Amino acid sequence: MWIDTHAHLDAPEFGPDHALALSARTLARERGVGLCVIPAVMRQNLDTVRLLAHRMGDAYALGIHPLYVPRALDEDLDALDAALTAHAGDPRLVAVGEIGLDFFVSALCEPAMRERQQHFYSAQLKLARKHGLPVILHVRRSADVLLKHLRELPTGGGIAHAFNGSAEQARAFTDLGFALGFGGASTFEPARRLRALAAELPLSALVLETDAPDIPPHWLYATAAERAAGRAQGLNTPAELPRIGEVIAGLRGIPAEALAAATSANAQRVLPRLAALLP
Ligand SMILES: [Zn+2]
Repeated sequence: MWIDTHAHLDAPEFGPDHALALSARTLARERGVGLCVIPAVMRQNLDTVRLLAHRMGDAYALGIHPLYVPRALDEDLDALDAALTAHAGDPRLVAVGEIGLDFFVSALCEPAMRERQQHFYSAQLKLARKHGLPVILHVRRSADVLLKHLRELPTGGGIAHAFNGSAEQARAFTDLGFALGFGGASTFEPARRLRALAAELPLSALVLETDAPDIPPHWLYATAAERAAGRAQGLNTPAELPRIGEVIAGLRGIPAEALAAATSANAQRVLPRLAALLP
């Protein structure tokens, strides 16, 4: 059984009324994906991810994503706090997320926006502590700053999603109780450093994710030239997770079943509420 620890199944790419997400979720289940975690990205989709997780028999996280910080208001943090309080007893609420820092997108790197991102990040770490939940982190060129805040405001750990840092940064996250999310990016042969990490990190550090509909694996990816020639970008969904897992198991030289079992156990360790939701 596989667990997709990061899938934005409410994204507009999945069509009106989430139709494509619902069919993809059924296919994923047939392929052995027992659970998905659907993270929120902004105040406006806190209810959407919760309702969708219930409809699909999955899990969700509530938070404000760094890419949505420019449009977020301070009072959105109060709305998040209220939602975490209102749904504290919901077993499908497994984390605060997706939160973090993005120092890659240029508009987010202006000094004032870096400050604003850190304001939302540290406020949400405080909310995770207040509500006793782990966190799901967006890490892009920001691992060291994320770690600095985590040391000041320790949480119960969680997941550093789409991890693509150094071995030292990986170790720093695992020392703080985090697992590292690997997905479609590891399926590209030129991603040598990332593939080496996926192959060499302790098995106990890994969880799997699709980040659907983003970060497609190589078999769905159309290059700019292919797109110009009319080939559409394939839609990345949780149904791809077992094949992504097979690639990562191949990198590690272990059977896919062994990777599925270990990463599913790791997901339950860092997001403890998942255990009660397993099919
Ligand atoms: Zn995400």
